[in-house]
Amino acid sequence: MTRSDRSVAVPANVREALDRLTESGYEAYAVGGCVRDSLLGREPSDWDICTSALPEQTEAVFRDFRTVPTGVRHGTVTVILGEPLEITTFRVDGRYLDCRRPEQVTFTDRLVEDLARRDFTVNAMALSRDGTVFDAFGGLDDLQNRLIRCVGDAETRFSEDALRIMRAVRFAATLDFTVEEATERAVHKLKGNLEKIAVERVQAELTRLLGGRCAAVLTGYADVFRVVLPEAALDETKAGQIEAASCLPVKLALLTRGCDREAVLRRLRYPKAVVAQAIRAAQPPAEALRPTLPAMRRLLGAYGAADAANALEYAHLTGALTAEEFAQAQTLLRQIAERGDCVAAEQLAVSGSDLTERLGLTGRAVGEALERLLDAVIDGEAENTPDAIWDYLSKR
Ligand code: ATP
Ligand code: MG
Repeated sequence: MTRSDRSVAVPANVREALDRLTESGYEAYAVGGCVRDSLLGREPSDWDICTSALPEQTEAVFRDFRTVPTGVRHGTVTVILGEPLEITTFRVDGRYLDCRRPEQVTFTDRLVEDLARRDFTVNAMALSRDGTVFDAFGGLDDLQNRLIRCVGDAETRFSEDALRIMRAVRFAATLDFTVEEATERAVHKLKGNLEKIAVERVQAELTRLLGGRCAAVLTGYADVFRVVLPEAALDETKAGQIEAASCLPVKLALLTRGCDREAVLRRLRYPKAVVAQAIRAAQPPAEALRPTLPAMRRLLGAYGAADAANALEYAHLTGALTAEEFAQAQTLLRQIAERGDCVAAEQLAVSGSDLTERLGLTGRAVGEALERLLDAVIDGEAENTPDAIWDYLSKR
């Protein structure tokens, strides 16, 4: 095991957990993604701890705190130390079933064995409480060279757990790394095993991947994406559009362009709301997206702010709006929101009951009159004040 003296700032609660475990006579380290991200100068999303203490020993060390036996069979105890911290006993994974789960796990008291079961070298480093990095598999060099490399033989590791194939391309995108050659060959060779992975796991990796520098990955690993997304035809143009899109619904709308979006996204188990947003992003007809004040008011009224912005972005990325038109449309949307322009019948300065009272309108006629008034206000033919509206109506 090599040591590095590159030091990393550890949050106070992680530090406290490491101190308590160490002072009770156990080994304990921060491990995995948090070490990788810290060394890259990125803010880790969460901190995981590994320890030589067995789960019940960990529970005893933290008996003054709330603990949750998250996955005691797999060695994980969650301790609420300010935030929840996952503390997992050093373990070795047993024989793998179904390309996904180890049959059983065995606890070990050796850090290096725990690091050896981890997927990629950059995810297989541990950090002790004095700031020492333990790197047994060349993770520091691979971080330096921006490489995703399996710990051990790539084909073996992907055969054990095919989700690692998706994770490899996901990390390549989110970290903007390259997949090392032997790992890359194994990705292509074993991609078919992804069919055995639960679709929600694949979806979670896909979603994270789309949030990263995904264009090169989407084209370079088009064969892998054909396994999980056979419906989508990916080319460089589309991949570039997807990377450029600012949010998941627009990315998914682009990814599923030309497909039955609903069917594909539901199959990938995206939540209903996300599917609806993706569909709406691609839905408005070109005439609804002209960068004029009335068109943008109508879009906002029909779609709401978020879906309207998505629709404009989709139109821009697919070439239906020029950069200039897109910028104008966005400015208009912002102005409409800032001024609080009337974009829906409920915002009109007169109500349905006003129309009944003053004009004797009833039933369907009320709704129709409101729609006509809304059109007039949106088109700027009448101002949205009671006086202006009665005046407008009296002249018709
Ligand atoms: P992030 O949280 O940013 O997605 P991470 O590296 O922390 O990245 P997690 O899924 O939280 O990823 O996993 C934590 C650690 O557990 C990883 O860094 C890795 O060491 C190990 N790990 C996770 N999934 C696997 C897997 N499928 N095979 C082997 N090791 C894994
Ligand atoms: Mg993590």
